[in-house]
Amino acid sequence: MPNNPFDEEKLANSMVYKTLLESTLAIPWCIDWDSKTFSYIGPQIEKLLGWKQNTWRTVQDWAERMHEEDRDRVVNTCVAQSMAGIDHEADYRALKEDGSFLWIRDVVHVVRKPNGDVDCLVGFMFDISERKKQEEQLQKLQRQLEEYSYKDGLTGIANRRLFDDFYLREWLNAIRTQKPLSLILIDLDYFKQYNDLNGHVIGDTCLRQIAKSLESCCTRPRDLVARFGGEEFAWILPETNEAAAAMMADRIMDAVRAARLPHKASAVSELVTLSMGVKTIIPSDLDNRMEFLDQVDKNLYVAKRQGRNRYCAA
Ligand code: GH3
Ligand code: MG
Ligand code: MG
Repeated sequence: MPNNPFDEEKLANSMVYKTLLESTLAIPWCIDWDSKTFSYIGPQIEKLLGWKQNTWRTVQDWAERMHEEDRDRVVNTCVAQSMAGIDHEADYRALKEDGSFLWIRDVVHVVRKPNGDVDCLVGFMFDISERKKQEEQLQKLQRQLEEYSYKDGLTGIANRRLFDDFYLREWLNAIRTQKPLSLILIDLDYFKQYNDLNGHVIGDTCLRQIAKSLESCCTRPRDLVARFGGEEFAWILPETNEAAAAMMADRIMDAVRAARLPHKASAVSELVTLSMGVKTIIPSDLDNRMEFLDQVDKNLYVAKRQGRNRYCAA
């Protein structure tokens, strides 16, 4: 094979060259373009993947020893780039002889004949499994961070930040679709007294239990319950009219009652209770979503004034 840069004779004449090539962590190889066969592959391949050096005969062997989810993408890219005479690289999971997979990066140089036709492909395989592992860990961390930044640390439900994002999105949706949007603001009754009597740690536990009860009322995937702040919670109910919002408020009342959390310092009940402001709007461009939130808050305070342990949907 006159154009084979890894020709045995040439290499034998240059032991330094051969030693260097075959002792690097990168694995050198050469594929003859016309016959699509390996004219060379470094002996290190056996240590890396388990397959013996002499079992790498054709590009078929290479393609078959690849994760099936990577195969089409990698083979198609490599064939297209090689035919176009463009140097390229590809990451894929290589099949080891023991059946496991290892992330490999193949860096490919296209060698041309004097007339411009592709002569052979020369490349190196690199073990990039460590780098891939680090990338995956980084992505996992990133996802966790995103999740945490939208999660209330105490109760594990959505936090104020997610509420704000969600509210804006659903507000704009409601303007566009002209479907009713309902909000419910919730405030625990006499919670200062609860803390004073039981201490903050038990107060925190109570907030967690309330959050759980509220979450259990969630039936539609687009509804969102969030911790609004302190001992206040909020619901966003897209495509929900007055009647459906009132039903939701009733369901919340029932769920908290069913939790039967004792509250010895409450003036309205022996159990932990809450008050709610409920309101529905079909917003237009002229409406202001902060003003609407304010109106819901006013309803909450009407419920407080009227004696607590109730909702106001005026
Ligand atoms: P009202 O019925 O009028 O709502 O009375 P209240 O005592 O619940 O109202 P207020 O807003 O005056 O008090 C809220 C209390 O909620 C104050 C604070 O001690 C308690 N609180 C707020 N955030 C937390 C928290 O994260 N953990 C605990 N344990 N308590 C909290
Ligand atoms: Mg409050
Ligand atoms: Mg309160």
